[in-house]
Amino acid sequence: MKYVDVFRDAKLAHQLAQHIHQQADPERHYRLMEFCGGHTHAVFRYGLPALLPDNVELVHGPGCPVCVLPVTRLEQALELSRLPEVILCSYGDMLRVPAGKGQSLLKARADGADIRMLYSPLEALTLAQQHPERQVVFFAIGFETTTPPTAVLIQRADEMGISNLSVLCNHVLTPAAMHAILTPSEGEATAIDGFIGPAHVSTVIGSEAYAPFPRQFGKPVVIAGFEPLDLLQAISMLVGQLNRHEARVENQFSWAVTPGGNPKARALVEQVFERRDSFEWRGLGEVPASALKIRPEYARYDAEQRFELSAPRAREHPACECPAVLRGQKRPDQCRLFGTPCTPDNPLGACMVSSEGACAAWYRYNRGRIAMQERE
Ligand code: SF4
Repeated sequence: MKYVDVFRDAKLAHQLAQHIHQQADPERHYRLMEFCGGHTHAVFRYGLPALLPDNVELVHGPGCPVCVLPVTRLEQALELSRLPEVILCSYGDMLRVPAGKGQSLLKARADGADIRMLYSPLEALTLAQQHPERQVVFFAIGFETTTPPTAVLIQRADEMGISNLSVLCNHVLTPAAMHAILTPSEGEATAIDGFIGPAHVSTVIGSEAYAPFPRQFGKPVVIAGFEPLDLLQAISMLVGQLNRHEARVENQFSWAVTPGGNPKARALVEQVFERRDSFEWRGLGEVPASALKIRPEYARYDAEQRFELSAPRAREHPACECPAVLRGQKRPDQCRLFGTPCTPDNPLGACMVSSEGACAAWYRYNRGRIAMQERE
């Protein structure tokens, strides 16, 4: 791939890693959180931890949208899918996420529920047109990158006068989650020295959205792309800032991320959505102003308004350590279910479902190394 290969150049990667070895102060430990699940996947796929000095530790954050969705919201989607008039649709990964009592959307589909997998929210519009006698519900999840397409869906439905479509909205906000990670929970904040910020989210929200983290918490943020050289450069930039006792927002992905983000996308989201007072995150608990809901002007497209949804009390697997993994307090292999019996084919927790989930990435790319260590 002509334009990607240059960001995967092994020789340059080793040079950058060498530079980080020279930069890292042996007297200190660096805990850097890659917030986004896409970064977590890239970190393991390209074996970056093996290139870094032992005292530069990458901590995996909660930026995988299916991992952070609380089971209660998934239970609501399951409840909707059981209504005979409903066609429930969502992205593929969401279908495999385990809910309570061994349920998932995939199992509900096998049991006869009409659940469809979409690649684009606009496919829900087509479904609504094809089935005017049914109610099409889009189970919307994701961070700031997937929110504008959901806004387009709602506006398009409104323009076209489509009345049998609604959205169960679970769009969440990156800076609010970063804020929660740095805010002490039960007396203890997660020890993070700096953040690698997600490039794709930042193209929408802009680098200025991270300004509170250096200012309020003294933590540097470097926005980075998803290729190995992007990440190594971002790690070097963070280590450099920490060595100089600086805390700033830096932009490694400057060819696409601007200070103000994408004004058109932000305006679109602003027209259709407003902030919830609070939203539950798996792993982080209730986080104030951390998610979006549909504005009253578009209430007819809000599944929470259209259907009477209960607030189910769902239980996750009691031994699943996803909450601690998502806060960067535990590594996936520190969960006693990791690998046996929890695997990508048999996920017992949300972090094992998506390829962006920290447990799934560990399992896929670290399993051989772990097995070797166990044999030694
Ligand atoms: S290994 Fe499975 S059960 Fe353990 S934290 Fe990860 S997803 Fe949860």
